[in-house]
This record gives sequence, structure tokens and C-alpha cells, in this order.
Amino acid sequence: MFKIGCHLSFSLGYLGAAKEIVSLGGNTFQYFSRNPQGGKAKPFDINDVNNYLEYAKEHNINQILCHAPYTLNCASAKPETREFAIMVLEDDLYRLEHFPNALYNMHPGSFTTLSLDEGIDYIVYALNKVIKPEQKTTILLETMAGKGSEIGRSFEEIATIISRIEHKEKIGVCLDTCHVYSAGYDIVNHLDDVLNEFDRIIGLDRLKAIHLNDSKMPFASFKDRHEKIGEGTIGSKALIEIINHPKLRDLPFFLETPNDLAGYKKEIEFLKNNYKN
Ligand code: FE
Ligand code: FE
Ligand code: ZN
Repeated sequence: MFKIGCHLSFSLGYLGAAKEIVSLGGNTFQYFSRNPQGGKAKPFDINDVNNYLEYAKEHNINQILCHAPYTLNCASAKPETREFAIMVLEDDLYRLEHFPNALYNMHPGSFTTLSLDEGIDYIVYALNKVIKPEQKTTILLETMAGKGSEIGRSFEEIATIISRIEHKEKIGVCLDTCHVYSAGYDIVNHLDDVLNEFDRIIGLDRLKAIHLNDSKMPFASFKDRHEKIGEGTIGSKALIEIINHPKLRDLPFFLETPNDLAGYKKEIEFLKNNYKN
């Protein structure tokens, strides 16, 4: 089954988001755990969760992806930013335990005025602090474009973090097509090579989700600007190859393209029409 969805507003609540994605033709969705630019979360509404779980079962929504806020930075030079990140991670992960096999996506972090190695040390520290051996949620480190001091622009950086996590079975990776293309992985002309490299360095068994985006920026620009499917430098041909690739086709795909709901609906339909059953 083709698992396709998009990013939805965090104001909808769980049931609201599930209904929205069904109306858009999808069967999974991503949402922000809290205000993406701030950090305030809505109060946890257990009724909404229970209503969602019932609705999700009826409508074949088997997995959702929660995205950490952009303000989350485990690798910051500022102690208060790192403490805030740990607090957010703990609260988000606690909430996600209500959902079966949930995924939690986070940007590894930006090392700001520190060194790359120090940044990685802090990310490893935060993850080892918040991951509980009994948790059901898998935390995904997102592949990044590499703007500024962003960590996670190379498969090696992500592999280094994972290698130092105590409960590795709780860690996976979310590959963002826009980001990896900007970071210099040529998924347009050499998709197999990129996937082989991913497998060699991280292991494809760690890959749990795809952010399916086109890009406004040229190859290896280290810039992060998403574009609508088929309107960017990656193009629909390459993106269709990605959703059908034998090593990727069973993963959940999440659109983070600059779209309103009608635009998402069109893209979901387009991708469903081009997914080979
Ligand atoms: Fe992201
Ligand atoms: Fe992304
Ligand atoms: Zn991005």
C-alpha cells in the first residue's frame, strides 16, 4: 500500500488532522508537536486522542509523524537552549506513547559557535538522556541541507550520532529529498548510488520515512528551499522514481511542499496516479 500524506497544521488536533488527510486522499500525515517557531504545546486532550485512534483504525491510518519545533536545538552553544530541547523532547515523546508505532522527526541541531564535534556530543547526550528502553516511538534524525552550522548534512554525521546512541533500536532516519539534493547527493541522476551510499554508511534498515519535496535551489547549494512537486530542480520524473524505488516504496512519504490544502490534494492525487501498484 502506498503510504502518502503531507504536513498539516498543528492547530487541528489529532482527529481534525486525520479527517483532513482523509479528505485530501492521504493515509498518513505529519504535524508539529507545538508552535514550530516557539515551543508552546496545546494542552494534551485525551478525548481527542481516543477519537483519533478510533477514526484512524476505520480509515487505515497506521502511522503518523510528529515533527519537533524548529526552535529545538540540542547542539546549541547556549545551555538554556539545550535544556529547553531536552524538555521538549521529553514532553513530545511522552505524548506520542499514546499512538501505535509513532515516528518523531527532529533536525539533529546546529552547532552555532561550538565545533561540529561538540555539537554532536550534545546531540548524543540529549538523545541518550530522553530515550527510554520501553518507549514505542522511533526518533528520526532528518537529513539536512547543511545551511549555516546545521548538523546532518552528510550521512557520515548522522551515522556518527547513531553509533553513540545507547538504545539504537529507537533511532531511525528521515530522508528529505530537497535537503539531500541541496547537500550534494544526486538523487536525480544517481539515485541507486546515493541509496547504496546510505546503506553503506547508515544502513537502509534505519530509513523510516521520506520527506518528499522538490527544491527551489540548484544541486549542492546547501540551501533549504522547498518547491512544489515537479516545479523545482529535482523534478517529477526523479520524484516518481523515488516513490517507486524497490528500496523506498514501502516507506511513508510526507509532502512538505509550499502548498495550500487544494495544492496538497492535487499532489497526493498525482503521486497516487504515478505509484505502480
Ligand atoms: Fe524538517
Ligand atoms: Fe523535511
Ligand atoms: Zn527543509
